[in-house]
Amino acid sequence: MTIFMLLLVLLAVVLLVGDIRRTLIIKPIFSMFKKVLPPLSNTEREAMEAGDTWWDGDLFSGKPDWQKLHSISKPALSADEQAFMDNQVKTLLAMLDDYEIVHEHNDLPKPVWDYLGKEGFFSLIIPKQYGGLEFSAIANSAIVSAIASRSLSAAVTVMVPNSLGPGELLMHYGTEEQKQRWLPGLANGAEVPCFALTGPQAGSDAGAIPDTGVVCKGLYNGEEVIGIKLNFAKRYITLAPVATVVGLAFKLSDPDGLIGDDANPGITCALIPADHPGIEIGKRHNPLSLAFMNGTVYGNDVFIPADWIIGGPEYAGRGWRMLVECLSAGRGISLPALSTATGHLAARMTGAYSYVRRQFGLPIGQFEGVQEAMARIGGYTYVLEAVRKMTAGALDLGTSPSVVTAIAKYHMTEMGRQVINDAMDIHAGRGIQLGPKNYLGHHYMGIPISITVEGANILTRNLMIFGQGATRCHPFVLKEMEAAANPNPDEGLRQFDQLLSQHVLFAAGNVANSLFMGLTGSHFASAPVSGETKRYYQHLSRFSRGLAMCADFAMLVLGGDLKRKEMISARLGDVLSHLYMASAVLKHYEDDGRQQGDLPLVHYAMQWHLAEIGKAFDGLFNNFPNRFVARVMKLCVFPLGNHFSPATDKVVNEVANTLMTPSVVRERLTHLCFVGDSQTDPTGLMEQAFVAMYNVKGLECKLKAAQRSGQLATKLSPAELIEQGLQHQVITDAEAEQLSHAYGLAAEAIGVDEFDTERSLAGQAQHTHDAA
Ligand SMILES: Cc1cc2nc3c(=O)[nH]c(=O)nc-3n(C[C@H](O)[C@H](O)[C@H](O)COP(=O)(O)OP(=O)(O)OC[C@H]3O[C@@H](n4cnc5c(N)ncnc54)[C@H](O)[C@@H]3O)c2cc1C
Repeated sequence: MTIFMLLLVLLAVVLLVGDIRRTLIIKPIFSMFKKVLPPLSNTEREAMEAGDTWWDGDLFSGKPDWQKLHSISKPALSADEQAFMDNQVKTLLAMLDDYEIVHEHNDLPKPVWDYLGKEGFFSLIIPKQYGGLEFSAIANSAIVSAIASRSLSAAVTVMVPNSLGPGELLMHYGTEEQKQRWLPGLANGAEVPCFALTGPQAGSDAGAIPDTGVVCKGLYNGEEVIGIKLNFAKRYITLAPVATVVGLAFKLSDPDGLIGDDANPGITCALIPADHPGIEIGKRHNPLSLAFMNGTVYGNDVFIPADWIIGGPEYAGRGWRMLVECLSAGRGISLPALSTATGHLAARMTGAYSYVRRQFGLPIGQFEGVQEAMARIGGYTYVLEAVRKMTAGALDLGTSPSVVTAIAKYHMTEMGRQVINDAMDIHAGRGIQLGPKNYLGHHYMGIPISITVEGANILTRNLMIFGQGATRCHPFVLKEMEAAANPNPDEGLRQFDQLLSQHVLFAAGNVANSLFMGLTGSHFASAPVSGETKRYYQHLSRFSRGLAMCADFAMLVLGGDLKRKEMISARLGDVLSHLYMASAVLKHYEDDGRQQGDLPLVHYAMQWHLAEIGKAFDGLFNNFPNRFVARVMKLCVFPLGNHFSPATDKVVNEVANTLMTPSVVRERLTHLCFVGDSQTDPTGLMEQAFVAMYNVKGLECKLKAAQRSGQLATKLSPAELIEQGLQHQVITDAEAEQLSHAYGLAAEAIGVDEFDTERSLAGQAQHTHDAA
């Protein structure tokens, strides 16, 4: 006992006396920590540090504060924004004919370009004082979504000036003189911007651009000024072929110290008029046949004044940070808006088509296999809308959350890809034959573009989401890294000492809580609501603990290697992402007033998210290099096994039926989908046929019953059945007419376009209709 007591006292002295603890314990750990830290280049460090944390920080803390999430006000349009949706957006949609735009003009028609400029579509984010509309992120996103459901080419054209580019960069970093020079023209459409970062040698690794700018003296307007000599080659640049002003990223050097002490300031952004001598707007690319402008820009020994640097010469070398900071906003709005549009369009049209299209004597939407794909469309569309609103809402709170915008970009474009694939599968030949009647084809063609731009998806999932999340959202890691980087080693050690003790307590709490919640099926976890969604909150709290614990283990065991272990990082990122998206779903359900009719969609989404979290954890445990640690993690997260599985067949059936039933639920789910005039537009025709067919459901049942009882013959064509039903007085004249009208519309709606044999791309479709 005496020896034991002495040992305890010794341990207490070591732990409690700061100098002894630091010398014997913390110092060796600190040295080890410094060694395992991943080597970060300046560009990586700047990317890591840019932006804010938001709800992702709560999820990473292991203790998400659900009341805090619920207290965030519901994102909504202002009266002005709603009026713009109801008037200008509606007018624009009526002007767009996407088939004509893509296959006949391969450009937007001039009246459309003029309307976009005149009505301020290019100035959604520009402040009113410079002539812009100064709309919120949620309005920007709703406008782009609504346009995209009608024409992706028009949506991309509107999206780019309102995303990362000259407008956004000028607003954040431009000098007042630069703002006055450019923003009014950008606002009224007189100036068309593009932003050129990517080149043949540098795509994802944009920090490695070989384009150069050398500070030197030169002549501008007949006077000698300090300026920059540029040499660059850029490709894939959206709007470049029609741009009047080019935002350019290049690597700046200042060998003679003309603008500062640093000989190599690094990546810098400047704004250059497209007609400036030496700027060569090159040829156009063909991005999967879509019609938005995309092309190349070159410059050989182009001299520009140094004050064309965005923000002026003092912003030399700050380009990378500017881009990464601004990327957060654009990435959280633009591509999520396009993917949401794909969801709304696919859900509305596939629901209608599945009811209208008959095979084997039944609407195809009644086959379970089709229902499975339909439910995915419905469930994912609910998630898309929820994440769109929550992410744009975060931006409207004035935050710049880099991790959640990366989550939104990656997962929403992937959901868009899945949804359009499912819609194509269900539409089958009707989705494949391109022509004015095909409302899906261009979305199918466009999805790889969304996957590629603003951070290609593989890179975003594998490198960015967890990589940035772990350092930005973790309550201690970034601070510990800062302590390690402290130039004063003693101060760094003291900071590290304080952080480490808190970190150890945090980790121990996560292990204990994760295990406890796993053993008790999360029943004792907190939830801010009762009722059907309560258990989902509890499971998410449990997995938030699990994520916090596994992230610590992964960083402790793998250290700098985690950067190379992309598959491990991706799985941890998946857990974080699904926690975020599931939170968005629950918040969306609350924000919409807990609509009972939406519950099948909520159940589908939540069961999917929980199953995906389970799958990601399993993948992590099965592949984690240190098998002992893998088993410990598995024991704490799934002590009784992983019992989470995707949506049940009952839920699948309910969601599929929701899509095939005209109702407020269907309207709410697809509210951003353009539905045109039934006489002139295929979406309007499909919708009309669907409603007409739905309304004769009772009559069809009556006729079927008469067939079953032997009163009417079986195996009749629709026209014969109506005829016989009339003769045998099963239906009235008016009912026969109603049926004939509905069948006529259905036959028209399932029709596809036919072309002359010598069809050219500009060939006119003959609007002939397949026989039903
Ligand atoms: C239609 C279109 C419009 C565009 N508009 C613009 C624009 O306006 N301005 C502009 O500057 N650029 C623009 N881009 C460029 C776009 O941002 C790049 O295409 C993108 O950054 C990817 O570069 P890349 O195509 O060269 O692919 P690469 O960088 O060659 O990548 C190829 C593949 O490797 C993966 N990959 C790369 N590195 C890693 C890694 N470390 N870990 C895991 N996976 C990795 C990527 O995810 C991708 O799947 C546009 C591109 C397209 C197609």
